[in-house]
Amino acid sequence: MSDVLAVAEHRRGGLREVSYEVITAGRELADALGGDLHLAVIAGDVDRFAEDLNRNGVDAIHAVTNGEEFDHNVYQAAIETLLANTGADAVVTPNSVNGLDYTPAVAESLDLPLVTDAVGFAVDDGLTVTREMYGSKVETTVDVAGDRFALTIREGEWPGAEGVGDATVETVDVDLPESGARVTGFEEVAGGDVDIADADVLVSVGRGIEDEENLELLEGLAEALGATLSASRPIVDNGWLPKNRQVGQSGKVVTPDVYLAVGISGAVQHVAGMKGSETIIAINTDPNAPIFDLADYGIVGDLFDVVPALIEEFDE
Ligand SMILES: Cc1cc2nc3c(=O)[nH]c(=O)nc-3n(C[C@H](O)[C@H](O)[C@H](O)COP(=O)(O)OP(=O)(O)OC[C@H]3O[C@@H](n4cnc5c(N)ncnc54)[C@H](O)[C@@H]3O)c2cc1C
Repeated sequence: MSDVLAVAEHRRGGLREVSYEVITAGRELADALGGDLHLAVIAGDVDRFAEDLNRNGVDAIHAVTNGEEFDHNVYQAAIETLLANTGADAVVTPNSVNGLDYTPAVAESLDLPLVTDAVGFAVDDGLTVTREMYGSKVETTVDVAGDRFALTIREGEWPGAEGVGDATVETVDVDLPESGARVTGFEEVAGGDVDIADADVLVSVGRGIEDEENLELLEGLAEALGATLSASRPIVDNGWLPKNRQVGQSGKVVTPDVYLAVGISGAVQHVAGMKGSETIIAINTDPNAPIFDLADYGIVGDLFDVVPALIEEFDE
């Protein structure tokens, strides 16, 4: 019987969706190990976060009051303290920029085996973790030796926890190391105003638009739908949209309610970033484009005919 410690994530005053996903993954693991699920929420407005995170499946929330925003040292110290306090053997964190910063440090410091970017796991004699390799073309399994380990989970692979739970909530003040780096603020990269991972509806544009000047047409569609514009990698590589708009293996993982793929073929590296979308709609001239294997609705047609017709329809 082993307890699990999952770690929530927040940025600029708001909880990220992956926080609810680590609860689901952590609960699944805790059930398999026959233990409790502890959830750490570290720094920032912890009282508000703890209330929001009290969802079905969480047994105990540990709110660490030190620090304002993400800070590597605070996170590492807090997680090590909470693992010691709770006796949890496993730690589950988001496979995000933050998670990939502090989780290896915790694993190294506590001598825990670490498996990153998990898309699934099973517990039988021990833990077996599923990961994807070679641009998601190959699934691989990793057997973890021993009962103690750290796991980072891919965003969008587990559904977010829902409901209102009855977790206990305790406030923890962690002893911080004397020295080390501190995060002093955020600086936006150009075009960094939008987080496509937060959008409910995405209009995603691919190489089918042919020319940068045709982006305007897709911006019009996004506006008509109240959607956010995202893109496949060639659009970003061409410099037509900033990197933060890229969906896929080397971009962002998104799980919107609606993902409208326009002139996107559906390469595995792209699909890796959007396959968790609730409803997928594709517009493509090629009826054999792989995106149609995934799409809930498809329009085989020329985007230069279909998109203006859609805009007209939605404007009405
Ligand atoms: C290591 C690695 C990482 C990668 N990471 C990513 C990633 O994060 N994200 C990503 O997107 N890609 C990524 N790629 C690139 C990926 O392999 C594909 O090359 C890319 O996704 C293709 O983008 P696309 O679908 O826009 O273009 P294409 O594959 O060229 O598809 C264009 C589509 O538009 C259709 N089309 C053409 N004209 C029209 C028209 N008038 N109307 C309607 N449809 C039309 C075509 O039929 C075609 O299906 C990565 C590749 C590697 C090797």
